[in-house]
Amino acid sequence: MFAIKRALKLNKSEATLMAKHAGFRRVVYNIALSFRKSLYDDSTIKISDSKFIGTFKKYLTNTLKKLPEFSWMQEMSSRVYQNALIDLQTAFKRYCSGLAKHPVFAKRSKGQSFTVDDSNGKMLVASGNVIKIPTLGTFKLHEPLEQSYISQTFNLTKEGNRWYVSFCVDAERLPVQHTQESVGIDLGIKSFTTLSNTQVFDAPKPLKQAKTKLLKLQRKASKQVKRSQNQRKTYDKIRNLHNRIACIRKDFLHKLTTFLAKTFKLIKIEDLNVKGMMSNHKLAGAIADLGFYEFRRQLEYKCLMYGSKLELVNQWFPSSKTCSNCGHKQDMPLSVRTYECGNCGMVMDRDLNAAFNILNYQPSA
Ligand SMILES: [Zn+2]
Repeated sequence: MFAIKRALKLNKSEATLMAKHAGFRRVVYNIALSFRKSLYDDSTIKISDSKFIGTFKKYLTNTLKKLPEFSWMQEMSSRVYQNALIDLQTAFKRYCSGLAKHPVFAKRSKGQSFTVDDSNGKMLVASGNVIKIPTLGTFKLHEPLEQSYISQTFNLTKEGNRWYVSFCVDAERLPVQHTQESVGIDLGIKSFTTLSNTQVFDAPKPLKQAKTKLLKLQRKASKQVKRSQNQRKTYDKIRNLHNRIACIRKDFLHKLTTFLAKTFKLIKIEDLNVKGMMSNHKLAGAIADLGFYEFRRQLEYKCLMYGSKLELVNQWFPSSKTCSNCGHKQDMPLSVRTYECGNCGMVMDRDLNAAFNILNYQPSA
């Protein structure tokens, strides 16, 4: 079993709908928890957890929802409170068996999330750019579902400014037909990745724009009066922008690694000595920025998922300095973008030449 997680592309009213349901979940959970606590404190009342949940549900639908201050609950998905109460029951079970501390009240500051499910059982989650979530509706996705799945329970969580949906799928591995045999990948700073089949993937433009904006805001904040209202506003903007940058980068890396793991049977990348590269100041910013670690991490698990093979090429192999045509080696300072072989005369883009070398690399026995 594994989980599929996708970022939702929501408009304002859809985002409000999510936030309202997260609020609904929190309120129900907290009211039920305080009732349960008061029942525990009164030693004359003995009630089992399941009996309590049943009683509380009746109270919620027959009494609480009818009070004017809670009438907003009537517009909310009933699956949300059902799942909130299941969560509470689980929390008490864990507490009673010594696995966890006593359940505590849910706080908005601890993050917004809730769960819905299809009360009819497992359902089809169709492939494509949208997802149908039981009782909530159909929503656009940032990255499409490449195939259909079967699932029942959906978790909605807010991370940064974005809502995510995740659901579990019963399968060991996703069946895919890889369309190409093998690829060598050069990771670089000018282009994020250059493939030996000549495809090039650059870091997304919005990332660069957001970064320029970030620098401006940081400069602005440093000139503002410390702890002033205005400085706080600038810091809020900086925090939002950081979130946005993280989201753009994640999207880019997810799309890229999914594409690679689904397309190629064998993927070869350099086992980069990221630590060594980080000690080089000029490179450090670019590497941290582009998320090479994250790229590698995603590629590793996606290759497992799609049944492709990831091969790491020895980091000391001089992939940039070697001619992919004749094997001749020559110095290649970072500023030299084209490989012009001093031996056979081959002329090739520096990164593409490296990608070919990575593809053709054979570990010496
Ligand atoms: Zn050559």
